[in-house]
Amino acid sequence: MRFVTFLEGTDAQLGVLDDGQKIIRVKSVFSNAPEDIIELIQLGQAGMLSLREGMDQVLESDKIPFDDVHLLAPIPRPIRNIMCVGKNYYTHAHEFAQSGFDKSASKTDPDIPVAPIIFTKAPSSVIGTREQIVKPRKLGQKVDYEAELGVVIGKGGRNISKEIAYDHVWGYTIINDMTARDIQAKHKQWFIGKSLDTFCPMGPWIATADEVDPENLDLKCWVNGELRQDAQTKDLIFDIPTLIETLSEGITLIPGDIIATGTPAGVGIGFDPPIFLKEGDRIQISITGLGELENTIVDEV
Ligand code: MG
Repeated sequence: MRFVTFLEGTDAQLGVLDDGQKIIRVKSVFSNAPEDIIELIQLGQAGMLSLREGMDQVLESDKIPFDDVHLLAPIPRPIRNIMCVGKNYYTHAHEFAQSGFDKSASKTDPDIPVAPIIFTKAPSSVIGTREQIVKPRKLGQKVDYEAELGVVIGKGGRNISKEIAYDHVWGYTIINDMTARDIQAKHKQWFIGKSLDTFCPMGPWIATADEVDPENLDLKCWVNGELRQDAQTKDLIFDIPTLIETLSEGITLIPGDIIATGTPAGVGIGFDPPIFLKEGDRIQISITGLGELENTIVDEV
């Protein structure tokens, strides 16, 4: 199933997409319906069963065309920081090390990490598809995109082994790990340069894990219609089970946690000279079965 969060008046509504690209309001489907997607995830299998039973009863006239709504990110405000993986495709690890912006690389250190590099993005950086990415007036002028597969945790836990890691995945979405390269380089630690307001576009929907083969997805990113990133998720250096095992070894994962799995080659700093984003640029990202995430850059006024 595919879940969206959309605005109806001033309220954020949870919806499920049917096969005809129409949105069914989750609150209309069963009594005591969850308020938001985090609550739905927390309900686990019981919630999904109630939802499936109720969906057949919904009248066609009560459904909303997908293109008619203002979508928010499928998880508009995550409970805590989005966990992200740096340098998780071989080709991108090399392009980043050679760009001069990677202060974590050194001459004695090979480009390829021996263990996952983890950083986080602030929940306040999240926006939905078709919402605008604001390039700050002063801070961060070298702004870049990173197309990534996002993993949404369902059942939480600690010390989750690789073998059962997929049992803890609720679904998948698209994330654009927007980055101010100058801030990333200046502060060495990546948090500020990746957590600016609007720097985490997400969506358009979350597809539940039963609908996705996460190791065989095509990931593509265009800027103003020009194909920049074109990769397959099977080429991740550290696969999803390894990331879940690594993160949960000492940190308890909770329902609704999000992991951004890293970006492939083709970002702006991969060019010589680098190409950074400017006002009016349009970034489109598609991943098999996860739709298309589209955002435009505007300058802060
Ligand atoms: Mg990234």
